[in-house]
Amino acid sequence: MKKQRLGQNFLINENIAREIIEQACVSNDQNVLEIGPGKGILTAILIKKTQSLTAIEIDPKLCLELTSRFEKEKKFKLIQSDAIKYDYSKLMNQYQVISNLPYYAATHILKRLIHYRKQFTSITVMLQKEVVDRLVAIPGTRNYGSLSIFIQFYCEVERLMEVGKESFSPKPKIDSSVIKLTPLENPRAKVDNLKTFFSVVNASFLHKRKMLKNNLTEWDNLFQNLNGKIELAGIDLNRRGETLSIEDFARLSNYIYACNDKI
Ligand code: SAM
Repeated sequence: MKKQRLGQNFLINENIAREIIEQACVSNDQNVLEIGPGKGILTAILIKKTQSLTAIEIDPKLCLELTSRFEKEKKFKLIQSDAIKYDYSKLMNQYQVISNLPYYAATHILKRLIHYRKQFTSITVMLQKEVVDRLVAIPGTRNYGSLSIFIQFYCEVERLMEVGKESFSPKPKIDSSVIKLTPLENPRAKVDNLKTFFSVVNASFLHKRKMLKNNLTEWDNLFQNLNGKIELAGIDLNRRGETLSIEDFARLSNYIYACNDKI
């Protein structure tokens, strides 16, 4: 893969690197996992502040540079691997994740980390501002969609700071934001079947401007017509997906799952 396709926009502002680490509340009794250490601007600060630092970097050339720069650091471990495919259950401890994610793979890596969320106490990442807008979006707003629901179903979300494109080299076309995700003990709503839940969520946002009755046609055999009002599980299907809370989606999908179970 070419370097520009590895999302190699390196952070060049040390003050911002320090602030990210400060806002993530890193302390010296924690094990930290850094994804994509690059030239090591966050790495060098993290090594001084943590109990141990493990980093996953895909680029062999950067791995060589990092190894020679930090070879004397006993608590540093570098893994040359693809963070999209890495099996995080292999990690020995619970980790706090800190990363300036490569744009091209940011949501893939995030989804993978959420899948292995039991391994992580928190996940603080910098990524495209517009992606963070979606991750923190609440019902009834333009950016609210299936990604917001996926992340907020599993995590507490906290937007920490904004970082302008001039803080990177080469300079990207867009600004970035830093977000902290804290995995919840239990998902935010009681869902009887995850597959049905995420199928309903994804279908509801398939055509964002359409009403639910036009997006949820796969389950139209379950629609109820109450005095001309079409409903499912007590939810008015003239609404759009973007107005439903996570609990509303849980109610819809639990109803669908229970009905399909009976068929
Ligand atoms: N942490 C450094 C910084 O803040 O300057 C580099 C951040 S740069 C945005 C992204 C880094 O992730 C690069 O070092 C790149 O090589 C690495 N990277 C890209 N794709 C990756 C992947 N799939 N797995 C692991 N690292 C990856």
